[in-house]
Amino acid sequence: MKNRNQPNNPQPFQPVGPYLLPCPPEPPSDYLEHWIPLTSLERMAETYYDVIIVGSGAGGGAVLWRLCERWRKNGERVALLEAGDLLLQTHAYNLPTFDSARLTKFLANPKIGRPIGAEWPDYPGATEFLALGGKTLHWGAVSPRFHPEDFKYWPIQYKELVPYYLIAERVMNINQGFTAGSSLQEILLDRLRFAGYYDATDFPIAVDREVTKYGEIHSNAFFSSIIFLAYALNLGSFDLAVKARVIQVLVESGKAVGVKVVTPDKKSCFIKGKTVVLSASTFENPRILLNSGIRGEATGRYLINHSFTVTLATASRKQFPEVLGNTGILIPRSEDRSYQLQIAGTDPYKYYWYHYKERPLQEELRFSVLGFGKVEPRVENRVTLDPARRDEYGMPKLNVHFSYSEQDQAIIGQLASSSTYAVSSMGMSIEKIPCLMPPGLDYHEAGTCRMGDDPCTSTTNRFGQVHGLSNLFAADNSVLPFIGAANPTLTTIALAIRTADYIIHRLK
Ligand SMILES: Cc1cc2nc3c(=O)[nH]c(=O)nc-3n(C[C@H](O)[C@H](O)[C@H](O)COP(=O)(O)OP(=O)(O)OC[C@H]3O[C@@H](n4cnc5c(N)ncnc54)[C@H](O)[C@@H]3O)c2cc1C
Repeated sequence: MKNRNQPNNPQPFQPVGPYLLPCPPEPPSDYLEHWIPLTSLERMAETYYDVIIVGSGAGGGAVLWRLCERWRKNGERVALLEAGDLLLQTHAYNLPTFDSARLTKFLANPKIGRPIGAEWPDYPGATEFLALGGKTLHWGAVSPRFHPEDFKYWPIQYKELVPYYLIAERVMNINQGFTAGSSLQEILLDRLRFAGYYDATDFPIAVDREVTKYGEIHSNAFFSSIIFLAYALNLGSFDLAVKARVIQVLVESGKAVGVKVVTPDKKSCFIKGKTVVLSASTFENPRILLNSGIRGEATGRYLINHSFTVTLATASRKQFPEVLGNTGILIPRSEDRSYQLQIAGTDPYKYYWYHYKERPLQEELRFSVLGFGKVEPRVENRVTLDPARRDEYGMPKLNVHFSYSEQDQAIIGQLASSSTYAVSSMGMSIEKIPCLMPPGLDYHEAGTCRMGDDPCTSTTNRFGQVHGLSNLFAADNSVLPFIGAANPTLTTIALAIRTADYIIHRLK
């Protein structure tokens, strides 16, 4: 009887002498130059895009992912233009060769983190991280939602953002299990709760800890925008150019028609499309708009961040009998608390890498208490173009005008006393009293293209569309009208997904 698996005319195996026949040469195939496909700007200049996205960080990555997820490979054309180069293929925490000391030194390299605040006396802590993936390549991944109370400054309510929070939390794998099982964490949480911080909780953190139900293991546990790009690449299609600095949006007859791009060797070209999304973040978005002559009354104004305090503490290792494990505690903003505290080991990342060792009982443990305070959005806190000073691309440089209000100062005072109280509540000793970091060093700057209903006090409408230009959008930290005291990125991503849905609806 014939075996069903057998081919009809099986070729008998014929060895030639003692050797096998050599394999026939493989036909020549295309190859990839880089770990992600790139498209030349010359080719992009010949294409008419449905959507052009400027910047590949949290906001730009989220818009790209959502467009590709919804459109699949239906023929829509999406361009992603990134000023930076290919720097890291994944979040820095996923790279086994780093540890906190090496990562800190890497980020201190002025070629990676350019200290732009050196030119801004009001905002000396600002740093520019230009690269594919933007700041998400090394953000801390701590991802709380904003407090519903904070939405009273917004044109939309908290509940309208909830479905988008849920999508963002799913795709970013946000969970609180990272510190689960650590006795150190449990002991400290208990102490804080008994001292009145009843809502102290585990960090909600964007880290993919699970094998999927299909057995997939992902090699990139910590979330970065590169994950958005990976999903987008596999679900849909897009053209990507790096080292492509956008300096202007081109407007004709009241519509955005494309963008002007300059390369590091100063070649310029125009990329054209139906819709433009600016996701170049808080400093670059208003700079591009103002340099394009798109001068909304609020553009560049209402710069916000977090007042940022650091307290260092020590505790005896003898207090914690077991293997230590992860620490990451969030004391969130609440109705009666206008700030947030984050408690972690001073080397919170050590468990991500390969030099875990148990600490001897004689050793002092060191912890940091980071405080983030609410800052009022004020019209006078702003960025402006300085036509007298230009960068190497010929673009006017920015000036930053910023100060903390009396209310902000009062919250900074609360941050200091609460940080000290949290340290004593946890049975620790103060090693370094609370100090205020320079503005910009929190890396949470936002608000310079804020969304709102009134064009006099906002740059975009509630969907991120620039007032008066129906096909120009902003999607990143710059659109946040108020950030309360929570880390901003989850909310930026939720909003950017919402903006992408609105664009898809409009283009239909
Ligand atoms: C060390 C560190 C730790 C942080 N930890 C946290 C945290 O724990 N939780 C949290 O919520 N947030 C954290 N943040 C902040 C978080 O990274 C930002 O909120 C988030 O990345 C902002 O997203 P964005 O899209 O506005 O900007 P980005 O992610 O910076 O993206 C902007 C992109 O635009 C590109 N670009 C800029 N100008 C141009 C131009 N002219 N043309 C083309 N492209 C351009 C940039 O290269 C970049 O890719 C941290 C940041 C840092 C640096």
